[in-house]
Amino acid sequence: MTDTLTAQAGTDVETDEQFRGRMREFLQAHHPGRPPKAKEERLGWQKAWLATLFDAGFAGPSWPREYGGMALDFGKQVIYQEELARARVPGPLGTGLGIAAPTIIKYGTPEQKERFLAPMLRGDSVWAQGYSEPGAGSDLPALRTTARREGDEYVVNGQKVWNSSAEIADILFTLVRTGTQESRQAGISYLLIDAHAPGVTVRPLRDLTGDAHFAEIFFEDVRVPVENRIGEENGGWQCVRTSLGHERSAGAMNQAAMYRRVLDELIELARERGITTDPLVRDTLADLEIRVRLMRYSGMRTISDIAAKGEPGPASSTTRLFNVAFEQDIHEIAVDLLGEYGVLGRRDPHAVQRGRWVWGFLRTRASTIGAGTAEIQRNTIAEQVLGLPRDPAMPPR
Ligand SMILES: Cc1cc2nc3c(=O)[nH]c(=O)nc-3n(C[C@H](O)[C@H](O)[C@H](O)COP(=O)(O)OP(=O)(O)OC[C@H]3O[C@@H](n4cnc5c(N)ncnc54)[C@H](O)[C@@H]3O)c2cc1C
Repeated sequence: MTDTLTAQAGTDVETDEQFRGRMREFLQAHHPGRPPKAKEERLGWQKAWLATLFDAGFAGPSWPREYGGMALDFGKQVIYQEELARARVPGPLGTGLGIAAPTIIKYGTPEQKERFLAPMLRGDSVWAQGYSEPGAGSDLPALRTTARREGDEYVVNGQKVWNSSAEIADILFTLVRTGTQESRQAGISYLLIDAHAPGVTVRPLRDLTGDAHFAEIFFEDVRVPVENRIGEENGGWQCVRTSLGHERSAGAMNQAAMYRRVLDELIELARERGITTDPLVRDTLADLEIRVRLMRYSGMRTISDIAAKGEPGPASSTTRLFNVAFEQDIHEIAVDLLGEYGVLGRRDPHAVQRGRWVWGFLRTRASTIGAGTAEIQRNTIAEQVLGLPRDPAMPPR
């Protein structure tokens, strides 16, 4: 597989501009077109696209080649994300690629890497994260879902909540308690659970947009082979630290490239509506322009930190905070600029651009909660970036 991918993905002597040209040509020739309306059909369409990318050697820009990735250098990773955003092709499915994959690459056995990584990258198996519980969100070490060892299996019981993409997932990367409740971080293991196994129930939860982007998951005597555990028993917290850092920086560059395009579209819309001579509108758009450029530099820094140190580090919290504030603001500003039309949803015949801006406004309200709330990110920055004392309200580590 390595040789074919190397050949298809070009060689190290390919210049950045040649790479950009080759990607653009590929995306034009294989563009999947507009998404189908029906949910089921859309899922198949997206999976087919991910398989097309993978089979042509255009998946996993930062992944090692041995797992089907491209192992691109810094500059080409930036170009990769810019070209995907420009082409408006669908992104990854589920939350595994940016979060579970780096954890498996770091802590998985050779068999686990072989078994799980390429199918995840190709979109053959969709992954969802099962960390949060009704009583364990910011305080994740309080989690209560148990995994009792019985021979070569664990028997899992408990409940998870707010799990993005769980309703389409095949594998749930989950934190479970294998120690006593009092053991907190020291009694947690990292388990990969088959989402279709007997005893797993996934119930979609609707958000403000009216769509279901996350779900709650119930485990009732679910049997999980021990070989599905990543890292040591009771050693899951170490893996979580890797995956949380990656979760906060996941897609930082991809988001920067996407919001570059979204801002261009908003500026175009402002032009069409004849409001670009208004000094307040100009001021607001210029401010967004500065922020989208900063987002790009911040995404570049994340890529180079991961390339240099293997981890995005605690500074991923600054990127995350900056990006989510931007995505909330750009939608809020767009809704304001559109006046009374701004609040019309996609079913209203007078809606502007099928109500995309108000949909985005509603959808991004949750951005300052997912992947750790804004308050928790600020705590991380205070303690781990600035070296300030630990929050006295937090339980001891
Ligand atoms: C869109 C979205 C997607 C999500 N996707 C997933 C997913 O895929 N998988 C998954 O497992 N979970 C997911 N979550 C859950 C998310 O990680 C939790 O909601 C989040 O960690 C907060 O936990 P909580 O909801 O229990 O709130 P709590 O932790 O109860 O927090 C309530 C409030 O108290 C504040 N607070 C708590 N502790 C402190 C502190 N020490 N200092 C200051 N303020 C504090 C919080 O900031 C918040 O404002 C998602 C959530 C959202 C909104």
